[in-house]
Amino acid sequence: MEKTYLMVKPDGVRRQLVGKLVQRFEDKGFQLIAAKMFRMTREQAEYHYEEHKDKPFFGELVEFITSGSVFGMVWQGENIVALSRAMMGKTNPLDAAPGTIRGDYALNTGNNIIHGSDSPQSAEREISNFFRPEELAAGDYPVRMPGSLAN
Ligand code: GDP
Ligand code: MG
Repeated sequence: MEKTYLMVKPDGVRRQLVGKLVQRFEDKGFQLIAAKMFRMTREQAEYHYEEHKDKPFFGELVEFITSGSVFGMVWQGENIVALSRAMMGKTNPLDAAPGTIRGDYALNTGNNIIHGSDSPQSAEREISNFFRPEELAAGDYPVRMPGSLAN
């Protein structure tokens, strides 16, 4: 089953949005298989955002992501990487459609509330930066969605 790493960033945690954001992904039909509130180390932050290390905003980004607690989650479900990115909306909230998380809750790129992996490969890399394999639940509880014929 496809997995992704979703994370409420420090701005979202400070704004008490964790519950609402978890609810959106549960409502969609995805399964939460691990979650924790923690403060990222600088090493974890630099590894997490390694692809941006030569960008002018890298320093600011690492400062921000380590500025307070984050709520890191592992989720699984069909096409979850693409679907969760669509639910998050565009990186810059100016471009994020209303109805998306960033469209509904964020004002600028530096404070855009949520992170989500951009590919299954990134997800694997990101999950292993923050979770040990034994921290992941089996995800074996049955998800029942409205209209589902399966029991
Ligand atoms: P994402 O995958 O949609 O989160 O976007 P990226 O991988 O391109 O960038 C990672 C994160 O870096 C974004 O979510 C922003 O928080 C931050 N970021 C991207 N571009 C900028 C920028 O130009 N300025 C600042 N301050 N932050 C940025
Ligand atoms: Mg990204």
